[in-house]
Amino acid sequence: MERSSLDGNSLEELRKRLDEINIQLLKWLNERAAVVEQIGQLKEKQGVRRYDPVRESEMLARLIEMNEGPFDDATIQHLFKEIFKASLKLQKEDSKEALLVSRKRKSGNTHVKVGDVVLGEPHQPVMVAGPCSVETEEQVRAVAKVLVQEGVKLLRGGAFKPRTSPYDFQGLGVEGLRILRRVADEFGLAVVSEIVTPGDLEQALEYVDVIQIGARNMQNFALLKEAGKVRKPVLLKRGLAATMEEFMYAAEYILSQGNDQVMLIERGIRTYEKATRNTLDISAVPILKQETHLPVLVDISHSTGRRDIVLPIAKAALAAGADGIMVEVHPNPAVALSDANQQLNLEQFSDLMKGLREAGLIDKLSFVES
Ligand code: PEP
Ligand code: MN
Repeated sequence: MERSSLDGNSLEELRKRLDEINIQLLKWLNERAAVVEQIGQLKEKQGVRRYDPVRESEMLARLIEMNEGPFDDATIQHLFKEIFKASLKLQKEDSKEALLVSRKRKSGNTHVKVGDVVLGEPHQPVMVAGPCSVETEEQVRAVAKVLVQEGVKLLRGGAFKPRTSPYDFQGLGVEGLRILRRVADEFGLAVVSEIVTPGDLEQALEYVDVIQIGARNMQNFALLKEAGKVRKPVLLKRGLAATMEEFMYAAEYILSQGNDQVMLIERGIRTYEKATRNTLDISAVPILKQETHLPVLVDISHSTGRRDIVLPIAKAALAAGADGIMVEVHPNPAVALSDANQQLNLEQFSDLMKGLREAGLIDKLSFVES
């Protein structure tokens, strides 16, 4: 019987049937995907999680019960599991589109305003420079003077230092913020400084113009949420071993609380490479620019951990489309209380600025006549 039915079909006919079945399967698969999407939308409205493992195992159990072969149960289970996964992935992509940080949600660039400086304007990169840690008022003042000469408006400096070892210099705390504010006001600069504890945020707002959230705190969700409630720009650093997706979700925490004045900063990620302190992931710049509408900066000090390559690295960052550069500058790096190996001295900083100007990369910075 079986033989004769086979005999009745030529190879050509069987292939034709197979082609038709493929098309049918394709239609059914896409129809299934459309239904899954509708379910997802309904669940979203009801505030229910989209992935439901109980429902999934019920569906698999039913399929296996109905399975009459020739595929064995394990194969059926595997095939359907793949179909379920594909549908879930589809929904995940949908939910990414819905992220507040996503360019699909907002096509234009977000401009972050810090005093009279605007970040996120194409081809108008901004420099953020200053010591790793605030040590003394004289130290910060010496750096601020050179910043002004070079047309740089944003002064960075760590007052709360998230150090790897508890025995290393932990920063001057609020006193460090006071020093930054005094010097910044004296020189007409804006203050960028890291806050590590949600409880310190409120007081810090009196002193800082930009709240920095450091790499070690990129997934400190309590801190991210608090930073989302304030009305000051936030500079969020990429975590030491964070994927770009995790980085974007961290920024989403801030935006989801109402603060859209967020800047992302690539500061190198940990790899096996030892020639640099971290590995600068330059591809993060165009990818984050494409995927999000937020300004993207590059920290050339923490990503490299060395001063001899800052100029080519800064050029690479700006050529890749970075909206700004962060660099550590100290009047006497040899005696710095933190990151002595990577901070530029004042002359090296001026050389960096000169190199970038000569390359035509920061010609839009405004300069003060000296
Ligand atoms: C810093 O910029 O002061 C700093 C500590 O950097 P990161 O958080 O990137 O290590
Ligand atoms: Mn540092």
